[in-house]
Amino acid sequence: MSHPAINAALSYLLLVLSLVLFSGTSPVSAATTDYLWLEDPGDQLTIREAMALDAGQWQAFDPDQVLNLGFSDGAFWLRVAVPPEPRNRVLEIAYPLLDVVDIFWVRDGEIVRRYATGDTRPFASRPLYHRNFVFLVPSNTDTVTAFVRVKTQGAVQIPVEVVASADFLAGEQLSYGWQAMFLGIIVALALYNLFLFLIVRQATYLWYVLTVVSTGLVHLHFHGLLFQWWWPDLPAVNRYFTVPIIGLAMVAAIMFSIQFLAVARYSQFSYRFLLALLIGSGLSVVYGLFGGYQTGIGMVAVLAAIATPAAWLIGLYVWCRGQKLAGFYVLAWTPLLLGHLILAVSKLGYLPRTFLTEFGPQIGVAMEVVLLSFALAHRINLERRRRLKAQEQALSIQRQANQTLEERVRERTEELERANQRLESISFTDGLTQIPNRRQFDTRIREEWTRTGRQGQPLSLLLLDIDHFKSVNDRYGHLVGDDCLITVAAIFAHQIQRSGDLLARYGGEEFAVLLPATPEAGAEQVAERLRRAVETATVYPGAQEAAISLSVSVGVATMVARAEEKPDELIRRADEALYEAKGAGRNRVITFRGVQAIPADDP
Ligand code: GH3
Ligand code: MG
Ligand code: MG
Repeated sequence: MSHPAINAALSYLLLVLSLVLFSGTSPVSAATTDYLWLEDPGDQLTIREAMALDAGQWQAFDPDQVLNLGFSDGAFWLRVAVPPEPRNRVLEIAYPLLDVVDIFWVRDGEIVRRYATGDTRPFASRPLYHRNFVFLVPSNTDTVTAFVRVKTQGAVQIPVEVVASADFLAGEQLSYGWQAMFLGIIVALALYNLFLFLIVRQATYLWYVLTVVSTGLVHLHFHGLLFQWWWPDLPAVNRYFTVPIIGLAMVAAIMFSIQFLAVARYSQFSYRFLLALLIGSGLSVVYGLFGGYQTGIGMVAVLAAIATPAAWLIGLYVWCRGQKLAGFYVLAWTPLLLGHLILAVSKLGYLPRTFLTEFGPQIGVAMEVVLLSFALAHRINLERRRRLKAQEQALSIQRQANQTLEERVRERTEELERANQRLESISFTDGLTQIPNRRQFDTRIREEWTRTGRQGQPLSLLLLDIDHFKSVNDRYGHLVGDDCLITVAAIFAHQIQRSGDLLARYGGEEFAVLLPATPEAGAEQVAERLRRAVETATVYPGAQEAAISLSVSVGVATMVARAEEKPDELIRRADEALYEAKGAGRNRVITFRGVQAIPADDP
C-alpha cells in the first residue's frame, strides 16, 4: 500500500520514536538537597507554624519518584533545603494542574521571597512564565529552604525537583519540542481525517477526528499548555475544562470504536457494555460542568481505567472473530494502553520519573492516532476493492444481458430475413404455376439488358402463347385450364435449366423466356425445343375424357442492347414475332426479322 499520507505519518512516527529512545533524562538534582513533606489535613498551618515545626515531623522523599498523595481536602507542605552552589538553579513542580501552589523562600529563618500561584490563579502569578510551576532558587551563596504549600482537588502529585537552570533549559528544549511534535501529529491527522470525512462522508471519520482532537486537548491540558496558551487570565476555566474534555474524548473514542469495529455485528454483549460506558462518559461531561470537581475527576478516572483495556479486549475479540480492520485497532490501542499503564505505575511511585514516564501517554496517543489513521486509510482501500468487485459483477451481468439481447436480436433478424425472403419470393413468384412472375421478369430483363449490353453480348427473348386456349377453358372449364397452364409451365421449366436463363409467366396463358448471352440461332433452337415439348405433351382433363393436346406459338427476338434503346424494344419485337406466328397458323416459332418465318415441323 502506498498512500502518501500514510507514508508521511509513518515517518513521523519513526521520528517520534527515535526522539523518545535517544533522549535521556536531563534533570540532575543536587545531591545534597533535602526533600521533606508533611500533610496538614485540616489546612490550618501558617508559614510561620510550618517553619517552626520540628525536623522529626517531616518525612523525607526521593525526588526521582513522584510524590503521589492521592486525593485530599487538606493541604500538603514540602520543605526543600537547597545548599549553596555557584550555578543558578530552579525549583520545578512539574504538575500544572495543582490548584494552589504557595512557595516561601526562607534564608536564616527569614522569608526572603514568596509567590502565590496554582492553576486557580491567573497564569501571570507565576514568576516564570512556564506551563509548570518553576521558581528561581534565590541564593547561590547561602542555604535557602523552600516551603511549598500545595492544595488541590485533583490528584495530589507533586513532582518536585531542584535542577541547574542550564539543565532545566536544555531539558525544556526537548520537552517543548516533543509537545510541539505531538501537537503537529494531532493537528495533521485531525485535518487529514476531516478531509477524508468530507470526501467519504462516513461518521466514523468524524468520530475519529473528534477522538484525536479531544484526546490531544486532554494531554496538552495535562501539561498546562492550554492554560498557558488559551486562557491565562481565566483560571476558572481549568476547573470546568478538565473533566468534560476527558469525558468528551471517551465519548468520541467509544463511538469511533463501536463504528470502526462494527461491534454490534460481532458481540451484542460488548456492544451493550460500550454503550453503558458511552452513557457514563456522556454523563461525566455534564457532571464536569455542573458537579463537584473531585467526584468528576474520580468518575472519568474510573471510566478511563475500564474503557481503555475494555476497548482493547473488544478489539482483540472482534479481530479473532474475523474483522480484519480490528487488527489495526488492537495494534493502535496497544501503545495507548501501555502509555496509560506506564503513567499509572509511575504515578503510584513504582517507576522513577523519566522522559518515558512523563510522555508515555502522549507517545501512546500519537502512535494510536497514527495507526488508526493508517487503518482508516486501509479501510478506504478495502471499500474501494469491494466496490470494484461489485462493479465488476454488475458489469458481467450487464455483459451477459447484452449478449442475450444480441442473440435475441440476431434470432429476430434472421427470422425477419427469412420472412422477407419468403415475402420476396412470394412477390416474385406466380401463385399458380410456381415459376417467376411478370414482376421478376421485368426486373430481370432490365438487369440483363444493361449487363449484356455492357459486355456486347446478345440478349434473346422468347414469348410463348398457348394456342386456342380460350376454347380449352370454354370446353373443360377454368380449373382444367389452370391445370393446363401448370403443366405447360412445368414442361417449360424442365427445359429451361441453364443458369442465367429465366422462365416467367408473362400474363394469362403467355410465357416468356429470357436467354442472356444467347444469339438468335440458339434462341430459335430453345424455342423450337419448347414448342415441340408442348406439342408432344398430353393433359387429361378427367378420368373419362380424352387427352387434350396443346400447342404454343413462339415469338423470338434477339438484340445486342444499346444505350439509347430500352428492353421494351426487345419485348415489342418478340411480341411482333409471336403475332406473326399466330397469324401464320399457330404452333410455330417465328423470329423477328420483320418478314421471315420458320415453319413448324409437321405435327
Ligand atoms: P390464340 O392465342 O391461339 O389466338 O387463341 P386463344 O384462345 O389462346 O386466344 P387469347 O390468347 O385471346 O385467349 C386467352 C385466353 O386464355 C383467355 C382466357 O380464357 C384464357 N386464360 C388466360 N389466363 C388464364 C388462366 O389463368 N387460367 C385459365 N384457365 N385460362 C386463362
Ligand atoms: Mg394470349
Ligand atoms: Mg392464346
